[in-house]
Amino acid sequence: MATVAFIGLGNMGGPMAANLIKAGMTVTVFDLNPAAVDALTSQGALSAKTACGAAASADFVITMLPAGKHVRGLYIGDDDNKGLLDVVPKQALLIDCSTIDADSARLVGAKAAEKGIEFMDAPVSGGTAGAAAGTLTFICGGSDNAYAKAQTVLRVMGGNIFHAGSVGAGQVAKICNNMLLSVLMVGTSESIQLGLDNGLDPKVLSDIMKVSSGGNWTLEKYNPCPGVMENVPSSKDYQGGFMVDLMVKDLGLSQQAALASNSSTPMGSLARSLYVNHARQGNGSRDFSSIFEQFSKKK
Ligand code: NAD
Repeated sequence: MATVAFIGLGNMGGPMAANLIKAGMTVTVFDLNPAAVDALTSQGALSAKTACGAAASADFVITMLPAGKHVRGLYIGDDDNKGLLDVVPKQALLIDCSTIDADSARLVGAKAAEKGIEFMDAPVSGGTAGAAAGTLTFICGGSDNAYAKAQTVLRVMGGNIFHAGSVGAGQVAKICNNMLLSVLMVGTSESIQLGLDNGLDPKVLSDIMKVSSGGNWTLEKYNPCPGVMENVPSSKDYQGGFMVDLMVKDLGLSQQAALASNSSTPMGSLARSLYVNHARQGNGSRDFSSIFEQFSKKK
């Protein structure tokens, strides 16, 4: 059985690591937050005092961190701290599942290649529910060899696994997806509120739109209006799920990419402004479907 080092045990990384343990793999974990480590050791993980300690003898190193600076810092290190690239075995496969800028992924990939180590970006879609159920979608950027080798661990944590291209391509595909998701969430929110304001039952309206031409993932799986759907963040005061701050980060990444490629993304730009405004009003750590309150809340 494969030995895995898993670093970054937050809302996503925690349940992903737990699924590897359930599959019988030897998983050594590390997180800056000791409580997150304890939650995994109680499920059978080994722990290490440092990230380098966890990764030093692993077949696979998987990271699930907030942003590019965390990923660069962890893999490359600095004058005072070794990076994972200084300690991992040459035959190890490094898989970063965080959503970060493609340039950071390419930088880490190039530094890894200089040392003869394979690195792949594999950001995910499917949220915390998908992480817990082991049904995430992985969007991979890396060599054919890395993609083939990664199946051993990705199949345990995910359903759909795609090869988008070389290192960094997974990140590009992921931010395109999240830009579209934000636009759908805003559009769904304003549409449901328009119906409410005109006397409709939001559940009936959602059922109609779900099977009509306005149907989309947010209506099917993640309705933003409280009370329409059970077990989604909107019915739990927008707790858990995917934080507004992380959506703001992803929309910043898509706008950076659009600038660099001179692409026109007016809807993504507007969605970013709406989400930045929402975060500034104190909603940064709530689920991104709470954008609904920008339309529903009486001021
Ligand atoms: P999170 O904030 O819950 O977890 C991040 C974890 O990383 C924390 O436990 C933190 O302590 C740890 N960490 C940070 N720096 C570290 C370091 N140097 N060494 C070790 N641990 C470190 O975030 P999350 O919701 O799990 O998201 C992680 C990534 O997945 C983000 O890039 C996010 O955009 C992406 N993502 C999240 C979701 C979602 O629904 N939450 C869905 C898809 C993708």
